[in-house]
Amino acid sequence: MSELVIFSLVFGGFFVLRGIAATVFFYFILPEGDRCPNCDGVTLRVQSKGWNTLLPFVRTSWCYECDWHGLLRHGPLTPVSPTREFTKTP
Ligand SMILES: [Zn+2]
Repeated sequence: MSELVIFSLVFGGFFVLRGIAATVFFYFILPEGDRCPNCDGVTLRVQSKGWNTLLPFVRTSWCYECDWHGLLRHGPLTPVSPTREFTKTP
């Protein structure tokens, strides 16, 4: 096996492993549940074709109170109160 092939396999392998390690690391630092990490409000799950295809194990969320949008881990959901009013504070 030529040295060029060995070099490509080793450094290509390190490149792929780095991507996998970063994905696993960032997955575990994502907040769990449906609470907004910015204002602790309840977020809504939104559909994002790219993120849901690329990372189906995360929850694409949008906070209607502070307009934050991002990714959360699946976790316990906040129970909905039937008397809760949905208002947006400026
Ligand atoms: Zn928020």
